[in-house]
Amino acid sequence: MLAKLRARTPGADLTLVEKGWEVAKAAHADQRRKSGEPYVMHPLAVADILVDFGLDTAAIAAALMHDVVEDTAVRSADLEAMFGQEVALLVRGVTKLSALEARELFTEGEALSPATKKAAAEAESLRRLLLASVDDLRVILIKMADRLHNMRTLGALSRKRRQVMARETLEIYAPLANRLGMWMFKSQFEDLALEQLEPETFALIQTVLADRHEQHDHYLGDAMDALRARLERNGIEVIEIKSRAKHIFSIYSKMVRKDLEADQILDILAIRVLVPSIADCYLALGTVHAMWEPLGGEFDDYIARRKPNLYQSLHTSVAGPGNRPLEVQIRTPDMNEVAEYGVAAHWVYKENARLSADVQRQIADLRRTLESHDEEAVDALSFVEGLKTDVFRDQVYVFTPARKVVELPAGATPIDFAYQIHTEVGHRCRGALVNDRMVPLDTPLETGQTVRIITAKGDNIGPSRDWANPALKFTVSNQARAKIKQYFRRQIHDEAIKSGRDIVERQLRKLGLTRTKHEKVARLFDFARLDDFLAAVGRHEISAQAIVERLLEQESAADESAAARQAAAPAHGLTNTAAPQKPKATAGVTVFGADAMQTRIARCCNPLPGEAVVGYLTRGRGVTLHRSDCRNIAATREREPDRFIQVDWSQKKAQALPVELYIYAIDRAGLARDITDVIAKSDVNMTAIGAVSRDIDGMAVISTIVELESRAALGELIDRLEAVRNVIQVLRQRS
Ligand code: MN
Repeated sequence: MLAKLRARTPGADLTLVEKGWEVAKAAHADQRRKSGEPYVMHPLAVADILVDFGLDTAAIAAALMHDVVEDTAVRSADLEAMFGQEVALLVRGVTKLSALEARELFTEGEALSPATKKAAAEAESLRRLLLASVDDLRVILIKMADRLHNMRTLGALSRKRRQVMARETLEIYAPLANRLGMWMFKSQFEDLALEQLEPETFALIQTVLADRHEQHDHYLGDAMDALRARLERNGIEVIEIKSRAKHIFSIYSKMVRKDLEADQILDILAIRVLVPSIADCYLALGTVHAMWEPLGGEFDDYIARRKPNLYQSLHTSVAGPGNRPLEVQIRTPDMNEVAEYGVAAHWVYKENARLSADVQRQIADLRRTLESHDEEAVDALSFVEGLKTDVFRDQVYVFTPARKVVELPAGATPIDFAYQIHTEVGHRCRGALVNDRMVPLDTPLETGQTVRIITAKGDNIGPSRDWANPALKFTVSNQARAKIKQYFRRQIHDEAIKSGRDIVERQLRKLGLTRTKHEKVARLFDFARLDDFLAAVGRHEISAQAIVERLLEQESAADESAAARQAAAPAHGLTNTAAPQKPKATAGVTVFGADAMQTRIARCCNPLPGEAVVGYLTRGRGVTLHRSDCRNIAATREREPDRFIQVDWSQKKAQALPVELYIYAIDRAGLARDITDVIAKSDVNMTAIGAVSRDIDGMAVISTIVELESRAALGELIDRLEAVRNVIQVLRQRS
């Protein structure tokens, strides 16, 4: 270790390190690790990790002594006297962290089915606590090296204890390393933890990786040779080009996230290119894209949009040699240092100041935020994290019966879990077994639990509306709630379409327009899509009455001029959003000079009896009544004065229109009487009720002639008649 330090910085003063080693050796003299080796081998290994990481001598001395205050008779004050304040503060910091850690979120015995409600909820607080309680980030680095060595030497511990350590590492230390931008720690934490938590999958990936190695080397070699040659031909200096080892955990999470098999992911080749400047990065990207087709047509520009942990690089995926997917990362050496070491890059290179002033300043800024004890600053940081990465969301990790890990937000329930598995599993979820015990569906899940969902089979099985209600806490994930709501929206829509179709069909039958296409009716209401129209009818946004009106109007107004139509029937502008206007029954009017004419009330101004009105003579049949001061007709009135006629309200009923109806029903006693009653109560004149004809099947057809004062009343009457018991349908005889 000393040799490595001397090689790194010739002539450096290593007194602190040498003295630290002596103190540690003496303090731990009679202690042994569980494996039986002398305890001091542990702090030595921790210090060695930090030497390789490039930390300074004060930190390395502190690493050597990181366990002495906690575990031995050596006092913090002694250290200050011997080593000075800097080293003593570092050791004190690590001791303080170890004390926090000893509060044990993950306690022994809870490894496989842990009661880790606390753990899941407090993992983030612990991470923040760790960050907020250190005065010097080197303390965190020592703690990470400590954890790394402990993870590498788990062998002597019980299986349970190993699992506890692994989960803690995965949930606290790996995210922390990520936040600090220290990829080297993060990747090792994740792989070591996965090896404990998912030993079979870990071994599988390892095997497949080894199998592919040779084959991949061949392709990667070709790809790198070709790229290097092309870059150099384009005048871009290649500082380094190498294949990028993907760590096992990242392959594993991709498998889980994208539900892929290991082979599929391992087919992806990855290389990294270092070039001198930012400009070169973009030039190199252009070269890569000129050589190989970009997949998905996009690339990630983390140079322009730096990650919160300062990570910078260009990422692109292309169809590489042999048409294999190839991931290329392009960055400068500066960016590479920051990517590997994160905030630690500041210490790693402070001696030779290799990092540019710009990067130094960014690191200083990040450190200031991280080191701030000010809660606001810590919150601000987590806010940024929340925006940019998912890593720090509070989350729980649970297992499927097939031991796949499912990541869910903290507080997630079996229903959230079910929807995460598959939308249909969510919809059909009727029960849940957590660690083989039946639990209520609103039970919050805890990290480490195995969840089995019990689904119902059959048609028309759906979620409960309560599940989407945040107040009832059946779900916490927005994704699950969105799927539940979508289910009900879909269902309501389907039902509305069905009932809308029935209504439209009934009205068409009534009017004897059975050949009229529904699409045509929809167009009368300005709907482009039939389903939307039918749904609007089904939701009663468009009344059956309005449909009858519009159909009749359309017939009679077929040859009205466009201008007149606009003036007289602005209701053409009625859309699916407007509230349906119930058309008024034609009031009694006297139309001078046009007695026999049919009249209707203009919808634009809705004149009431007693108001001054004017009649507009339509080109088809009939007269439309507008208020005299209706603005819609002003222009038409000047242009075509001849078509306006004087009208007056009168007390007597308007002309009644005779309509012949055929009522089809299953015969029963009193049928004719009931029908007569309905007509009488409808304030409609019945001029004749025809013979009731019966056939052998017990069907009765009753024909009747009624006088209706308006066509609008026709639909209402038919609706009432169809409500009479045994009546199947009422058809209008078109003369
Ligand atoms: Mn230790």
